[in-house]
Amino acid sequence: MNQFPTLTKISEDIYQLVVRYPFGMYEMNSFLFQGDNGFTIVDTGSKAKESIEIWEKTISSGIKVEKLVLTHAHPDHIGLAKWFQENYHVPVYLSSLGYKEIQRKRNHDNGDWIQNLFKTHGGPEISLNKVDLEEDAYEFEPDGLFENHETIKLGNEWYETILTPGHSSDHFCFYNQNQQVMITGDHVLAGLAPIIGVWSESDRNPIQENFDSLEKLKDHPTKLALPGHGELIYNLNERIDEMITGHKHRLQQIVKFVGSEEKTSWQVCQEIYGPLSDTKFFAPFLATITRLIYLEKNGDVHGELRDGKWLFRSIVNE
Ligand SMILES: [Zn+2]
Repeated sequence: MNQFPTLTKISEDIYQLVVRYPFGMYEMNSFLFQGDNGFTIVDTGSKAKESIEIWEKTISSGIKVEKLVLTHAHPDHIGLAKWFQENYHVPVYLSSLGYKEIQRKRNHDNGDWIQNLFKTHGGPEISLNKVDLEEDAYEFEPDGLFENHETIKLGNEWYETILTPGHSSDHFCFYNQNQQVMITGDHVLAGLAPIIGVWSESDRNPIQENFDSLEKLKDHPTKLALPGHGELIYNLNERIDEMITGHKHRLQQIVKFVGSEEKTSWQVCQEIYGPLSDTKFFAPFLATITRLIYLEKNGDVHGELRDGKWLFRSIVNE
């Protein structure tokens, strides 16, 4: 019997909490691992009235929280880290890469870089406040850091930390061999393809990194995968192959749209997605730029920086 009314019991010692908030992805899966010292929570959801209410209700149903572990430093996953620390003295564990990421975001040094990226790819001007609406999420100090290929205890079980850059450069999955459970965060989702973007100067070729990270998971026999959003995954390797095929399909589509005439990423983006409003263009444009960077490095399109603008043309049919 499940004595915790807000939680969905997934297995003997794993529970799911769907945390809702009125913006962004609208909901995120937190997973709770029951152990002798209390529950270890993986990821929190964004900071909002609704998400705080569900956590308060969950904790008051008799849950003792041992610690919080974070997959990657996106605000919808780390948004309540500080709240857990301040209100319940819960220690927070983040990767050292994630820690660098939150420090960088706190320094606001990325807005200029994104503005410049959009400009050199022919796009419209963007204002800084559109770049990050949830910057409050980065204002916490982790109590412990982990690295790649370490083990971390979630409940009573040991999980391997697996660095899986792509969706974000600091993204980690956690794998338990004993139960064949993989926590996939935003790296693998059941129903949708997570956005892959160049978010900062250090992101060289995130699509290539994402392909490598997807392949990396396939060597780990998995019965149950726990994604950061949406449905649980029972056929991880099939889902991974499907995601790789989907990415390749969209890359081919871009090659077609680029054609033999020189175009900026913004032109290609508008040809694919049609006219995009001020609030809707960010994700498709970033995705298009990121795909063109991959295609250029892969030798499928030719790219040239001329008078401060990147111009692309297809070279496949030459
Ligand atoms: Zn994310």
